[in-house]
Amino acid sequence: MSVTPKVAVLGAGIAGLSAAFELTRSGVDVVVIDPADRAGGKLRTSPLAGIDLDESADMFLARLAWGIDLCRDLGLEATLIHPAIGSALVVHEGQLRRLPEGLVLGVPSDVEAVRASGLLSDAGLARMAEDLARPEGPPEENLEVDRSVGELVRSRLGDEVFEMLVDPLLSGVNAGRADDLSAKLGAAQLFAAAQRDQSLMRGARAQLGALPSSGERAPVFAALPGGMGTLIAALVDAIGTDHFRLGETATDLVEQPDGRLAVTIGATSETVDAVVVATPAPVSANLLRAHVASVGAQLQTLRYASVAIISLAFERAAVPGLLDASGFLVPRRAGLLLTACSWSSSKFPHLGADGLVRLRASVGRSDDTRFVDLEDRDLILAVRAELASLMGIEAEPVAVRVNRWPDALPQYQPGHEKRIALIEADLADHLPRVVLAGASLRGLGIPACIDSGRRAARTLIKQLVPTAS
Ligand SMILES: Cc1cc2nc3c(=O)[nH]c(=O)nc-3n(C[C@H](O)[C@H](O)[C@H](O)COP(=O)(O)OP(=O)(O)OC[C@H]3O[C@@H](n4cnc5c(N)ncnc54)[C@H](O)[C@@H]3O)c2cc1C
Repeated sequence: MSVTPKVAVLGAGIAGLSAAFELTRSGVDVVVIDPADRAGGKLRTSPLAGIDLDESADMFLARLAWGIDLCRDLGLEATLIHPAIGSALVVHEGQLRRLPEGLVLGVPSDVEAVRASGLLSDAGLARMAEDLARPEGPPEENLEVDRSVGELVRSRLGDEVFEMLVDPLLSGVNAGRADDLSAKLGAAQLFAAAQRDQSLMRGARAQLGALPSSGERAPVFAALPGGMGTLIAALVDAIGTDHFRLGETATDLVEQPDGRLAVTIGATSETVDAVVVATPAPVSANLLRAHVASVGAQLQTLRYASVAIISLAFERAAVPGLLDASGFLVPRRAGLLLTACSWSSSKFPHLGADGLVRLRASVGRSDDTRFVDLEDRDLILAVRAELASLMGIEAEPVAVRVNRWPDALPQYQPGHEKRIALIEADLADHLPRVVLAGASLRGLGIPACIDSGRRAARTLIKQLVPTAS
């Protein structure tokens, strides 16, 4: 091993950058390789009508410590902001209706609030209320076994709650079908609630009850005024720009006789002591297949959904209504191209400081790829037609942009976590100095990706830096 150990980080998304940051802090030399000409992967911010607006993720869960911790380590904590509005709307019978209060990932805790929302039929309400008649206490079945969110929620609360409340919310996060989504990874709060009580609603209530009263409650989401690009810039700064090989693709790993690894990068290579593979699963599969066939084969099975964000800026006068929500969700049954629309300048008022209304409309799900075949111009027209019908916006936008994210969001099927644990164990057996990180593992949200990167780094630090605890 060289005197100062050196690690190659493949992929400069938030997971790879988090790994590189952790390694750098421990005195490990790093080289970060990414085919893109800038760091950040899926996180990108650019101006829309003169104000920086995220092109993909615009906030992260504050409840999971990993995002906040990284911001603290980078000196960004004091600049964090939180959405000004929590409540959201949902499309129901062609109109925007307010979601009831007290939802835990779409699962109601308050029957009356759901009744008052008018979102469920009488039969749907009655079916939902049956859940509360179940005996108190944990169920007999072994809920340690992962299952789909659909299986969990439909069986306890009926199809309407699932289709109107739970699926729209969760598919707004991962652009998939909650019927296929691992409850353990994709809806951990519901998974925990289901283990606590035979009634999912009581389980949800208990979770809300465990929180401080709403006045003292910590914010659910955090963001940065300059967008997620600020986080990326701070990470790149802390790692050091001379540690990046951007615009270059890692194509192979070659084990050296001395135990080191050579990363092939075009006609060149980097010889390092260890590697963090923080690339999307199909790329990781290609890099690792020749070394551990089972790892390549398993990673290859992960499916991704493609999405696009259409960001629009309008004069305030062109947008009717109070805009007193964070945006709206769209249930599948509405049959729209839109899957959600974030009212960015309502959520974060500085994004409307110039008097413009900024919206970010999302399209695309794992089972709805219609947008992929539309040219940008037609996609914008289709989205504007739906916004006209739902929000009454007829005017031309002042600015508009389309950001397409092909194969961007991993779809965790039930049992995913177990599969990942086996993949990691196989990799550790065969290539102990190669560690995986990123959204393909245990969560696609920014905090989970940060955690995966820092964890991967710590695994290697233990092996490479003898003094590390
Ligand atoms: C539209 C959208 C909205 C989202 N909204 C939110 C949100 O509001 N909140 C939230 O928490 N999360 C959100 N997410 C999810 C989150 O942004 C991503 O899951 C996360 O950024 C993924 O980070 P990553 O580092 O794992 O992967 P990536 O960002 O995909 O990084 C992987 C990197 O690997 C590189 N690479 C590819 N091939 C190679 C190779 N051969 N060699 C080297 N490098 C390679 C790629 O160029 C890329 O830069 C959103 C995602 C999308 C797409």
